[in-house]
Amino acid sequence: RGVPLLRMLETGISLAIAAVPEGLPAVATMTLALGMQRMARMRALVRRLPAVETLGSTTVICTDKTGTLTKNEMAAQMIALPPDRWINVGDDLKQKMIEEPDVALAVRIGALCNDARLETRDAGRVVIGDPTEGALLLAAEHAGLDVDRLHQEHPRLGEIPFDSRLMRMVTTHREPSGKAVSYVKGAPRAVLDRSDHMAGAGGIRPMDEAGRAAIRAANERMASQALRVLALAYRDLNEGEDPAQPPDGGLTFVGLVGMIDPLREEAKEAIAICRSAGIRTIMITGDQMATAKEISVQLGLHEDAEGRPQRTLHASDLDGLDEAGWSDAVRETSVFARVTPEHKLRIVEALQRQGQIVAMTGDGVNDSPALKKAEIGVAMGIMGTEVAKEAADMVITDDNFATIVKAVEQGRIIYANILKFIHFLFSCNFAEIVTVFVAIMVGWPLPLVPLQILWLNLVTDVFPALALAVEPAEPHTMRRPPRDPNEQLLSREFLSLVFWQGSVIAALTLLAYWIGLEWYGREEGNGLEHAQTLAFMTLALSQIFHSFNARSRTRSIFSRGTIWSNPWIWAAALVCFGLQTLVVTVPLLRKVLGTVVPTMQDFLLVTVCAVAPVAIVEVVKWFWRRAHRDAAEAV
Ligand code: ADP
Ligand code: MG
Repeated sequence: RGVPLLRMLETGISLAIAAVPEGLPAVATMTLALGMQRMARMRALVRRLPAVETLGSTTVICTDKTGTLTKNEMAAQMIALPPDRWINVGDDLKQKMIEEPDVALAVRIGALCNDARLETRDAGRVVIGDPTEGALLLAAEHAGLDVDRLHQEHPRLGEIPFDSRLMRMVTTHREPSGKAVSYVKGAPRAVLDRSDHMAGAGGIRPMDEAGRAAIRAANERMASQALRVLALAYRDLNEGEDPAQPPDGGLTFVGLVGMIDPLREEAKEAIAICRSAGIRTIMITGDQMATAKEISVQLGLHEDAEGRPQRTLHASDLDGLDEAGWSDAVRETSVFARVTPEHKLRIVEALQRQGQIVAMTGDGVNDSPALKKAEIGVAMGIMGTEVAKEAADMVITDDNFATIVKAVEQGRIIYANILKFIHFLFSCNFAEIVTVFVAIMVGWPLPLVPLQILWLNLVTDVFPALALAVEPAEPHTMRRPPRDPNEQLLSREFLSLVFWQGSVIAALTLLAYWIGLEWYGREEGNGLEHAQTLAFMTLALSQIFHSFNARSRTRSIFSRGTIWSNPWIWAAALVCFGLQTLVVTVPLLRKVLGTVVPTMQDFLLVTVCAVAPVAIVEVVKWFWRRAHRDAAEAV
């Protein structure tokens, strides 16, 4: 066509700038960072920026029980002494302590085999240390025992600290009489297996099958009431035995303590929210089967969303499973009891093989492999070790399950908003490309100079995009299934949306430009700038209006509950209108961007062309809603 080289270069640069959404990286990073900040206010600290987005696609949450679903405020309720004596910690413990020596012994073991402390604060006695042990100290005090004096009179000689794998704790003490005694507390099974005698009202006698059966029955009875059960035992050390090496076997079984750990009020509701959001909750606990099962019923975990019963598996069911066995094990199980951190890792792996996106909680040092393996490792802020926090993607500062669910909801909102601003930015860029390209093809002069396109992309597009990033939750955020992790961000449906809406904006911009060329001529320095200003203004204003279109693919922007729900989008529009006005009025800016002051007639033309895309999109949305009346709920 004989176009000079410089002009062709200018055209090429214009197209290139129009094709690249320059504001996108800034907006994307800001969105994730703002999301992180919002989550932090809700007590969820996200440690890796991309985790904000992954959270939204979580399909399974594996959660610890103690402290996360429950309050971890243990309170001893009952003491069972074999074969069948039951003492209520509430009322008659003090009296029984005086009358029955084996009751006093049980309370003493609980208080001595113990690393917790009690301190007096405004709120009363508070536990420093493990809440399970604190409950035993509180019970001892309640029974009238002076715990500090008890410790002084029975100095500790050696110990084996509590360990989730050993499931018991042993301390050895020097009695006032001079002999050394080991006191043991731990999981009923772990203690019973190492006992060969049992204490009772009639004195000590050898452990027999009847005794074991009675103890197991008492344990079952407490566990099925959702009580956490600990067994208590002791052994006198023989002359010459090393008190620093406490014994492993030969114990005399004394009794069982059952303690309640109240559920967190929000836990049940949070689990119900997960269910309606298509997210499975799996409870993982070191507690025994019967306790775990009863708690799962109280939380509504015993059946899935369709009401199918869910299994409770015991660690012993998991030993020696191969890959297929593990896959099977995680399929319809909502509770894993007596599991160790190694099991947690296997559970995550098995779920991931089924294509699940797993959030896994943990607090101990040994939990880090599972936390690292899970898509979202969640560490507990209060109970968690530094190692677990280090390995996690997110730290929950109140240790509360409900907070995890809130974070997932935020993740979903943020993902939806990312789609919104990408929709907005891409359709704006597409409109720019089409405008420039079509004008070149039909042989018109360039409708926009490169600086004008850059101005649109970097200034007037960024504010509405940021406002879209803080859109409030859509009404059904937690009432629809998680998005398919394999779903592509730029799906065919999404791209067609960008194409047709971008084309509408481009068509109206070209219309305004064409009218401008007719009105003012196409000669450079004499009318062309005026026509370009019309194209520039139309594109800028229609993009600002288009940001309202991008708020929802289906809902009308004028619907109640939508129109005022995001004040930022109005603020962004005002700022952009202001900036756009400056660009065509302030002489310096006019000179830089090559614009002219619009006339009243221009103003009317631009307004009509810029508002039209909103009207057209609204009509299409209306038809869509009419055609999908039933499905509208789901989108
Ligand atoms: P979780 O905290 O998930 O319930 P744990 O591994 O801490 O699991 O506890 C497992 C079992 O070990 C408990 O059910 C209880 O019987 C016993 N246990 C827990 N804490 C202690 C402790 N401090 N001393 C002795 N035994 C304990
Ligand atoms: Mg524990």
